[in-house]
This record gives sequence, C-alpha cells and structure tokens, in this order.
Amino acid sequence: MARIIAIANQKGGVGKTTTAVNLGTGLASEGKKVLLIDGDPQASLTISLGYDEPDKLEDSLVDILTMVVNDEEIPDNFASIKIRDNVDLIPSNIELSAVEISLVNTMSRELVLKSYIDSINDKYDYIIIDCMPSLGVMTVNALACADSVLIPVQAAYLPVKGLQQLIKTIYTVKRRLNGKLEIEGILLTMVDSRTNFAKDIALEVNEVYGKTIPVFPIEIPLSVRAAEISSLAKSIYEYDPKGKAASAYLSLTREVMAHGC
Ligand code: ATP
Ligand code: MG
Repeated sequence: MARIIAIANQKGGVGKTTTAVNLGTGLASEGKKVLLIDGDPQASLTISLGYDEPDKLEDSLVDILTMVVNDEEIPDNFASIKIRDNVDLIPSNIELSAVEISLVNTMSRELVLKSYIDSINDKYDYIIIDCMPSLGVMTVNALACADSVLIPVQAAYLPVKGLQQLIKTIYTVKRRLNGKLEIEGILLTMVDSRTNFAKDIALEVNEVYGKTIPVFPIEIPLSVRAAEISSLAKSIYEYDPKGKAASAYLSLTREVMAHGC
C-alpha cells in the first residue's frame, strides 16, 4: 500500500510544485516507487517534468476523474507517463478546472480521486499529489484520500492567517471524510538565511503552530538553481547536486521516509 502525501497550501507560489518534484524524485532515488499526480489545472508539475504543452496530452487526470464519475472502468496504467525509473506522472491540464466545476454536482464529489487511488494504491510506495492554490473541491479530494498533508510555507510573508484557514479545512476533512489524515509537517521554503525576516517567520511559525503541528527542522533555502529547474525538466539533484537546496530536499526526503516507517 502506498503512502499518500498531498502537498497543499491555498497560497500561490509557496513551493508546492517544486517540493512535489524534488520529494518525488528524492524518494525514487532512495529506491521507492513513486507516482506524482498533478492536481492543478495550471499543470506546473506536468510542465516542470518536461511536458510543456499539457493541453496536447491525450490522457490526463481529467479523463480519470470523468471515468470515475461515469462509473467507467479505467484501463491499467491509463494516463500514466513514465518519467524515469521509479517515477510515474499522472499529468493535468487546464480542463481540470472544468471538471472541478462539474464535480460540484456529483454524488460523493469529495471522494472521486480516492476511488481511483484505491484502485492503484498497491503499485506504488508513495503517491504524491501536487495541489492547486485553492481549497476547492480538487484540493479536498486530495486531502480526502491522503495519509498526510505536507504544507510548504514561503518564508517571505507573514503566513499565520492563511495557514489557519488551511488547517481548519484539514481538520474538517479529517473529521468528516478521512479520519487517518495527518499533518506531515510545515515546510519553510525559499528561506533567505541572510535576512532577519526569514528568521522571524521561522520563529513565528514555530511559536504559533509548533506545539500542535510538526514543523520540519529542515528548511529549503532560497536558491536560484531551485527556481531554474521548473523550466528544465530536471530535479535539483540532477541540476545542482552539490547545492544547498539539493541537500535540503534530500534531508526532507529521508525525514518523510523515516516518518512513514
Ligand atoms: P502555485 O501555487 O502557483 O502552484 P507553488 O506553490 O507550486 O505555486 P512553485 O511553483 O513550486 O510554487 O514555486 C513558485 C516559484 O518559486 C517558481 O517560480 C519556483 O521556480 C520558485 N521556487 C521554488 N522553490 C524555490 C527556492 N527554494 N528558491 C527560489 N525559488 C524557488
Ligand atoms: Mg504549483
């Protein structure tokens, strides 16, 4: 059975997709079989893994969700793209926003993705879902099937308020839809350790949330190299293996693996 991790924060541009890529490829390099699911119509995950015209892909998560809703059988490996050894991707594209709207009128609309994931769960060690920056029905679908949620927080603005709303949603999903859902941890990203501001935010997150929610001791540093990989179809380990961001993402990978055991 795979461990399912949703990467979520309704705030945009906080490092969700970058974390999905580098946690996913990190787990694969540790010998785990990983499925990455692009849960965002912007398709940044799909694009950053080398498919820069996601609207031209024949099959995607959109088709899978539609087939679940219509009670159709989904063929083995449908829509799944082998990215490299041990890493598959279910891509997404802009049509996902239309599916999101249509799900609103579907019975058990929060459990559509879960129904699909239950059917492929035994093929992977980890399934990582990159969520869109909203707390809409797609993100609730991801939370409803996840074992845990990892929350990237950009250390460049005061995140307290937005996080409260996310955490409230997580607890509502846990109460009503998915009792096993845990918070994997808050991950500070784009940390510019030269500034006091970044340190203040780290302190604030630890003070406000640290007692009730795990905060990863590892922080992802601000790194031009990390920003560049989104257009290069590479992981940080391939692009800048000796850099600080690669080492931070590898530590994160090992921490997540230790947690899952
Ligand atoms: P969205 O909410 O739009 O899906 P996101 O939360 O998935 O965004 P990313 O796309 O991962 O965020 O990152 C936002 C931007 O910041 C991207 O341009 C990315 O390349 C850049 N970025 C991510 N991590 C880092 C980092 N550690 N250092 C510098 N830039 C980064
Ligand atoms: Mg993203």
